[in-house]
Amino acid sequence: MPPYTSTPASTKTRKEQEKLLRPRVINGKQTYVKFLPQDDLEAIHPVYLTDPANFKPRRHRRGDMLEWGIVELDMSVQLSMMEKIRLRMKQDSAMAKCMYHGQLQPQVQFIQGLMELKKAKIKAARDSQRELRDFVLTIRLRSTESASCTKSLMSRRIKVAGATKLSVFQDKILAPALGWTRNYHGYLFVDDNDGSQYGPDGGSHIDLMFLKDNGHTYLDDHEFSLADILPEPNPTKPAFHYIYDLGDYWFHDIYVDEILPASDSDGKVTLLAGTGACPREDGQGFRRWNEYIASPLTTAKHAEIANAMNYCEDPEVRRLGARWRFDPLAFDLAAARKRISDALASPASVPSGPKKAVVGDPFAFARRRAGADGDSAPKGTHRTVVPLSDAGFNGGKTSGALAGAFQTEVVRDRRDKRASALCACCGKPITEPRMCSACKKVYYCDRVCQTTHWKKEHKRQCTARTAAAQSTLVK
Ligand SMILES: [Zn+2]
Ligand SMILES: [Zn+2]
Repeated sequence: MPPYTSTPASTKTRKEQEKLLRPRVINGKQTYVKFLPQDDLEAIHPVYLTDPANFKPRRHRRGDMLEWGIVELDMSVQLSMMEKIRLRMKQDSAMAKCMYHGQLQPQVQFIQGLMELKKAKIKAARDSQRELRDFVLTIRLRSTESASCTKSLMSRRIKVAGATKLSVFQDKILAPALGWTRNYHGYLFVDDNDGSQYGPDGGSHIDLMFLKDNGHTYLDDHEFSLADILPEPNPTKPAFHYIYDLGDYWFHDIYVDEILPASDSDGKVTLLAGTGACPREDGQGFRRWNEYIASPLTTAKHAEIANAMNYCEDPEVRRLGARWRFDPLAFDLAAARKRISDALASPASVPSGPKKAVVGDPFAFARRRAGADGDSAPKGTHRTVVPLSDAGFNGGKTSGALAGAFQTEVVRDRRDKRASALCACCGKPITEPRMCSACKKVYYCDRVCQTTHWKKEHKRQCTARTAAAQSTLVK
């Protein structure tokens, strides 16, 4: 089990569990959602007593569509503060009881109903021609909490194939383009039209665990392509929100600028333009970050940013060491393109377990090496261990604070499934099972990409390379 799982495994049989939850009869009608017998339904939001098929999503107070369009606990009504707190606590307690009995919380049951409806809707509207078209997207980091404010330091413009699966888009294109660390924090995509949410299935990101324990759930982003979910172009209204790190809550808007005709679409990933530098990871969200960079950037601040998860491995940071300076307005297009091509060249998108830094425990490293720290890796994966140093800033010298510190990550040993694989060279979604015959880990869209990539970098990366040097095509 992942270390942060908080839902206890139920000891009851499935039949016993089903008996425990029952629908209620309200105004002569059975509720869609089932409840524990002891739940008096006082604290549950009335929306969960309705049928998901009749549900109309509502916008959040800020103007965004979020969390399936469910605006919970309307606190504007005339209730005393104590009454609000009492209801909130009662709701939390009802959810905790469900978890204790190994039951699905009513909130989750309701959202699962919405999810089934959404899936059916997408399936009915699925258009294979749309997958052959390239989408031009602009992604902007939201700078304030107001939906009407579009001011942003960070934006990226990307051309990407419609057939690209949302999960792989996040891992190999979007996060590297923006400058966030791959496989580190949890994330969600939210449709601004109906609030439907998509995220990594089976991930053990601690921020997503927390979300699930609080009655939220989302569609598996491996199952849907960009063509499935993105609406027609509208440069003034965001199509989707991309929330990265549910703790720091970095809120991005995704705009569909253009959908190219199939005849003008080559399927290759291109980072067209960008503005602004990525904030540092674990920087406590936008408000704190804004204050942080608005006041003078001292040497200590530059050092802090250089040592953040998303900057410490940056080649420029490593090269310049203590001379490196952070500029919030700077955007290095070549460096961002390199991050994308590195991600594309890696064998698999890694949905199974996020990166974790272990600091301040000198014996943890030895325990991890011996596999005795209780951190397991799911089947078909292994855990990497990379010692952390202040390489970014102190020119490789390890400071006292980081002695014995290391970073660990669950890495998938298998290649991506063909249905979600992108060409390791150009990022085009794969239609034929053409892969490197030596390592069988990376796919290519055609022979040209394979040859180019072999010469450029895969020759060095290909672990199972045969003595014959040049790989041959597998069909
Ligand atoms: Zn290619
Ligand atoms: Zn290979």
